[in-house]
Amino acid sequence: MENSLLELQAEAFSDAASRGARYLRQIGSRHVDANISRLAELGPSLPEQGLDVKSVLDLMETVGGEGTVATAAGRYFGYVIGGALPAASGARALLSAWDQVADQLTGPTVLEMEKVALSWIVDLLELPQETSGAFTTGATMANMTLLVTARDTLLTRQGHSRGAGLVGAPPLRIVASREIHATVLKSVRMAGLSTDGIEWVDVDGEGRMLASKMPKLDGSTLVLCQSGNVCTGAVDPLKDIGESCNAAGAWMHVDGAFGLWSRTGNFLTRAFDGLELADSWVVDSHKTLNTPYDSGVALCRHPEEMQASMAIGAGYLPATNQGPSDRAPEFSRSARGAETWAALLSLGRQGVADMVTRFHRHAVRIARELRDLGFEVPHEIHFNQVFATLPGNEEMCERIVTHVQASGEAWFGQATWQRRKGFRISVSNWTTSDDDVDRLVLAIKGAKAHIMKTD
Ligand SMILES: *Cc1c(COP(=O)(O)O)cnc(C)c1O
Repeated sequence: MENSLLELQAEAFSDAASRGARYLRQIGSRHVDANISRLAELGPSLPEQGLDVKSVLDLMETVGGEGTVATAAGRYFGYVIGGALPAASGARALLSAWDQVADQLTGPTVLEMEKVALSWIVDLLELPQETSGAFTTGATMANMTLLVTARDTLLTRQGHSRGAGLVGAPPLRIVASREIHATVLKSVRMAGLSTDGIEWVDVDGEGRMLASKMPKLDGSTLVLCQSGNVCTGAVDPLKDIGESCNAAGAWMHVDGAFGLWSRTGNFLTRAFDGLELADSWVVDSHKTLNTPYDSGVALCRHPEEMQASMAIGAGYLPATNQGPSDRAPEFSRSARGAETWAALLSLGRQGVADMVTRFHRHAVRIARELRDLGFEVPHEIHFNQVFATLPGNEEMCERIVTHVQASGEAWFGQATWQRRKGFRISVSNWTTSDDDVDRLVLAIKGAKAHIMKTD
């Protein structure tokens, strides 16, 4: 009996896998944007009697499939979404059959894969040996985990009890880049701290913090900087900031959601000098590394502090069983780190470097072609991000974005950066080819010509 029920799951699994393969085989030639005209067919009300598995998957495939945005394909240049590497995607499928909770007692295999993946990341990013961490749902949660750790550590150093939380706590200062990512600010508030009181540090024309504009730091200060500005990909001056932080006993946190991976390439080498001076770092797997959603990594050079802030204990848990739930917010959680393990193992050190270097090469070419078409790209190409605008005609940028999205040839979004309106192109999909870039550039050229003709 039990076996025949599991046979049903096995059949559903094979069926879904072949539908997924079919999806991937046609997505490359499809309209990039979603067709959402049939979404209502996904069901207005829950049926009284359940449907058989095949009918469920049929509906999902036929109606739902069209409603997806083709982020898996190489002509998607919006945000920094990334695709999914074959090994990581395959691992996701296998993991869904295993259905493990990442913990020693419930999933020793996946726990080991996560541990190995963390050590590979520390090695690849050249972080201090003592660094360790945890997988989270994304960079937002990784930032929050580390901000809570930083908050508790700075407060305990001043004699405040961790167990008291923020009740009766002495004030903490937060110094942050004026262009720190919006999710970091949300994380600050989720950690019970104030964004109203942030001491903002101005940035240069590349979006990098000006180290000379840093206020005087002390042991009650949390400094928030980034490696990978969302509009330019630029890295903050880590060495100068790190030295000031270390001298003052401040906590230095680096949000490197998509950009930290660029350290593995061969184009930004000097920019990462001083990265090792930070206390904590965040990097995403689901963006630049191209693992499936969702997966982020919280890394800390004081794992014992992370543990002190995140650890849980209960009468039914062995006291010695310290697992990922003692370093991350979630208790029960999927073994998302196993997908990162598969991605890294399939790429190897060289493969990671080649992928990020390719993203950079495409971005450099896109910027050049855009400049040739009369656009201004007001920053250097640090990594995979290109912000472009039309001098004297910024309003036209939004129309170009709409036109290209409607053409189905490519997808990217509008953006405002340093008070200028334009659009933003991110190269982060492992499949993006020269041909995809050709089609992107042609689509932009065509949109601009069309708008100018009709005006
Ligand atoms: C995307 C992003 C985040 C948030 O990451 P999620 O994984 O989406 O939670 C934080 N910082 C930067 C710089 C980002 O690009």
